[in-house]
Order: sequence, then structure tokens, then C-alpha cells
Amino acid sequence: MASVFSHAVAALGIGACFYRPGTPNRVWVVGAACSVVPDLDVIGFRFGIPYGDFWGHRGFTHSLVFAAILASAAVLIGFRKGEPGLGHFSLWIYFFSATASHGLLDAMTDGGLGIAFFSPFNNTRYFLPWIRVSPIGVNRFFSPRGLEVVRSELLWIWLPAALLLASAWLIRRRAVAST
Ligand SMILES: [Zn+2]
Repeated sequence: MASVFSHAVAALGIGACFYRPGTPNRVWVVGAACSVVPDLDVIGFRFGIPYGDFWGHRGFTHSLVFAAILASAAVLIGFRKGEPGLGHFSLWIYFFSATASHGLLDAMTDGGLGIAFFSPFNNTRYFLPWIRVSPIGVNRFFSPRGLEVVRSELLWIWLPAALLLASAWLIRRRAVAST
């Protein structure tokens, strides 16, 4: 399971694609929050909800439908007037992508059950096996499992997010320079 921080970093990386000069920081804060919300489903364990259940961990809250609902709620509650350079639709797409990225990242990690992307229509749990992180290999050199997780998250999440942020910054600098 990807850590809370990595989910938020991914949301910020996606945010780089939506960045406009003058966009207030609260847009990125809400985006980062959206990317973390799906894991609130772990509360279900306390109430005895089984892992594989509709409301179980990585169930409905990790689905695309939930991402659409959360994005709609965020726009309706927090951004009724839109933001400079970012209309309702762009904001919605950003919040949707930030939330949906959570399930995608979870699906890349092994351990536990897969992600119910198509809940509530289909409760099948999916993995993305072709980029599934394997603990074999690195463990020969560094035995702590934690180090492996950090390494894979740096590679698959922090690095792409940093690249996105850097490219957005470069594009903006060019735009500023050419005006
Ligand atoms: Zn999760």
C-alpha cells in the first residue's frame, strides 16, 4: 500500500498539469486531500467490515464512481465560482484524477486485495500486475521490507511527480519569458 505522503505527492504531480499562474494553493490542498480520502475506508476494519466487502478496504471508496462523486462534492462545496484560469470542469477533472490516482497507485502495489475500480457495478478487485512491485531481489541486499517500499514509491510516484512539476515550471518560465 502506498503511503499517505506518496498519494499526496502524486496529486501534486497531477496538479502540475493543471497549474495556472494565480491558482490559489487551496486547489492543490484539496487535490492532495482528495487523494488521501479513499483510505478512510480502513475505519471499516474497526466495525468488522470484511476486507472484500463493498465498504471494505480498497472497495467502493477506491472506485472511479467514488472519485467522480468526491470531485463533484469538492467543486460544489469549495469552488462554486471556479478559480482564475481553472473553470469548474478543469477543477472537476483535477479532483477526479487526484482521487482516482489513489486506486491506481494502490493497484500497483502487491499485498492485500486488489482495487474495486468498477464498484458499485462490479465488485471485482483488480491489480495492475504488469507494474506490480516485487520485493524479490532488493531484499537480498537490504532485508527491511520498509526500505523496499520507500524505494519503489520514490521510483514510481515521487520521481514522475517531480518530473511533472519540473516540466510545468519550465513551460511556465518559457511562457513568462516570451511575453
Ligand atoms: Zn488505498
